Amino acid sequence: MSEKIIMLRGNGDFTVEQFLDIMEGKNEKRLMLSLGLTTGPGCNMDCIYCYNESGRTEAGRPVRHRMKFADYEKAILESSSLGAQSVILVGVGETMMDKNFRKLIELISTEGMIPLIFTNGTLLTRETANFLYKHGTSIYLALDSTRENVFDKITGSKGMLPVVLQGVDNCLEAGFGKTTVRNGHSVTDFAVNTMLMKSNMNYLDEIEDFCQEKGLLFTCRFPEKIGAACSYWESHIAATVEEENLMRNIAEKHSAGGEVFRTDSGCLFWMAGVLLGIDGQVRLCYSVNNRKDMGNIKQDSMRTIIRRKRELYPPQKDYFCPLHLEISANP
Ligand code: SF4
Repeated sequence: MSEKIIMLRGNGDFTVEQFLDIMEGKNEKRLMLSLGLTTGPGCNMDCIYCYNESGRTEAGRPVRHRMKFADYEKAILESSSLGAQSVILVGVGETMMDKNFRKLIELISTEGMIPLIFTNGTLLTRETANFLYKHGTSIYLALDSTRENVFDKITGSKGMLPVVLQGVDNCLEAGFGKTTVRNGHSVTDFAVNTMLMKSNMNYLDEIEDFCQEKGLLFTCRFPEKIGAACSYWESHIAATVEEENLMRNIAEKHSAGGEVFRTDSGCLFWMAGVLLGIDGQVRLCYSVNNRKDMGNIKQDSMRTIIRRKRELYPPQKDYFCPLHLEISANP
């Protein structure tokens, strides 16, 4: 394991032995390393690349039959007993706007797991930052520009940038942002991500400087063509395939931490975890819809789900994601 790469705590920072146990699937107490939960719906921003159209859809489909708190609770408790070390909250919208957000963080933390949240950073008051720090949360914060006009254009909001920047400072004051060691990896509990597109690509160094100054891990990704991004793709994201490839390379070059969900051994949720959509249905990917039914936490146990998932997509180290392969072979 590299000591130089800093990872976001709770995302892929596991030992080789733990991964091997999961791949073998024989240790009943270690059948998964991470749980992904989708919260929401709803958002206070309207980003032009939003996969979920600001909380109106999930990966291009209408949001229906969302999980109740009891379903989330079942998923968390069963995952904990099957060896999960972290629970990653992604949102159909802003994770912190979910009415059960604090209850989820408390439960995850009580179970001894790491809550890892995606957030747009607009709700990180001093009190909330302290609450999250106290519960051992890792934060993955979206920051698409430090220039107000660019930020407003990308996020479809007004006057939010100073709120987000204050939120970052509140977190640093609470104690976030230090580098520690977990399972032999250097890890941090706070990272900033920028989605690369035409309007911010010339100012990437400003965000990097901001992160460096604050001592924060910086990651950069190129958006996927799903949700709101479809309507803006050519005009705001990339006009041609060549431009797409160029921007993908730029994002990769600038990203210090790689992708969240990417591990040394492939996609976190295929290899070593379970991701649940907002309706409780098992997903293999948060941005691409499944082709096969792997179950739903509302009626299936986590153990049954893992068994079914392993039958359909056996873990192996040869490639990153079987779903993307399946789709490109049969569009
Ligand atoms: S990308 Fe995130 S912050 Fe932006 S609209 Fe979508 S859910 Fe909200």
